[in-house]
Amino acid sequence: MPARELSALRPRPRVLSGMRPTGALHLGHYHGALKNWVRLQDEYDCFYFVADWHALTTHYQDREVIERNVYDMVIDWLAAGLDPERSTIFIQSRLPEHAELFTLLAMGTPLGWLERVPTYKDQIEKLKDRDLATYGFLGYPLLQAADILIYKAAFVPVGEDQSSHVELTREVARRFNHLYGRGADFDARAAAAQAKLGKDDSRYFERQRKAFGETGAAEALAKGEAMVHKAAALLSPEETELLLGHLRGAGRTVLPEPLALHTDVAKLPGLDGAKMSKSYGNSIAMRDEPAVVTQKLKRMPTDPQRVRRTDPGDPTRCPVWQFHQVYSDAATQDWVVQGCTSAGIGCLDCKQPVIDAILAEQAPWRERAETFLANPKQVQWIVEMGTERARTVARQTMKDVREAMGLNY
Ligand code: ATP
Ligand code: MG
Repeated sequence: MPARELSALRPRPRVLSGMRPTGALHLGHYHGALKNWVRLQDEYDCFYFVADWHALTTHYQDREVIERNVYDMVIDWLAAGLDPERSTIFIQSRLPEHAELFTLLAMGTPLGWLERVPTYKDQIEKLKDRDLATYGFLGYPLLQAADILIYKAAFVPVGEDQSSHVELTREVARRFNHLYGRGADFDARAAAAQAKLGKDDSRYFERQRKAFGETGAAEALAKGEAMVHKAAALLSPEETELLLGHLRGAGRTVLPEPLALHTDVAKLPGLDGAKMSKSYGNSIAMRDEPAVVTQKLKRMPTDPQRVRRTDPGDPTRCPVWQFHQVYSDAATQDWVVQGCTSAGIGCLDCKQPVIDAILAEQAPWRERAETFLANPKQVQWIVEMGTERARTVARQTMKDVREAMGLNY
């Protein structure tokens, strides 16, 4: 069997991530997130969603913006190399299950957990022109928790600023499992699973469980876990999970805790040297026309102290240099430093390799996007397939959640 088919048989851990459809994606989105999403497809079962409800938390007054950008953003994703055969691409609002889980989780989530999320106060400060004193904006990290937990994602790729959201998700899952993981017949089912271990192992298990419960000894927990894993052949996967939960005194894991998947992504600077962001008006869109890209870069400011062509410059004061650090090889970088500091080259000369590199980077995106733009039905169909795939998983989780909470009457 070819390697590709073999690896398809092994279940791959699930990764979940989303992006808000608030405008055309720019090079910062590509280098900071999308490039990594494309890479993750090789190793993980990737679920990527259009976070249109999240867009509403800040853009609730701009419905046209979101409407216009949903499918355009999916085209940016496909253009960057997301493969709908391997990745599940879907739209959050098409799955009301997210809202149901959000509501159920909201009941037991202390207000303080949300108020303490660092991005909460930050964003309110930063986005002063919008009224973010809303219930939705406070709750959005909890909605994110629901997005993640509903797919039982193992990993969430995040930049540093978002780690606190994954941490909140873990706390929410832990609390849920603690409150509802035991269910009405938990003790009876745990006892039945324990009996399957046989007399000696069952006694050993009981000793470790007691020791861990009374003293919190990590060694007892490790011994107990090792024993359950060794006996896995005698147990169904549910029973294994049940016993592991029983051992920890935590009950069954209904909603597994995700881990943050940290990747080193540099912040991509914009045309003015500050972080590239569409709200700062300093961005280059992934699918900006070549003439527009060239224009933007030619007009881009350089070292403010290099006034005349004959003045030597200092790359560390120049935003173009930051682009060279992303886009140019060592030889070109040497040429820049040498030429700039000696006034051997002008600023337009210096910009040319960056212009060429960005145009070359964009060319395959533009080409792929064209086929999708010419065939919007195909894009809709990709989203349709992804949404249905996601729905199957989300429905199953909600069944488990309702059952755990005693809501299936
Ligand atoms: P913008 O900041 O342009 O208004 P946005 O606020 O809608 O866009 P974000 O949520 O800031 O979008 O970004 C989406 C993803 O892209 C995040 O993972 C973020 O870290 C990444 N990203 C955005 N801008 C940059 C950048 N300039 N450099 C690196 N990564 C970026
Ligand atoms: Mg932003």
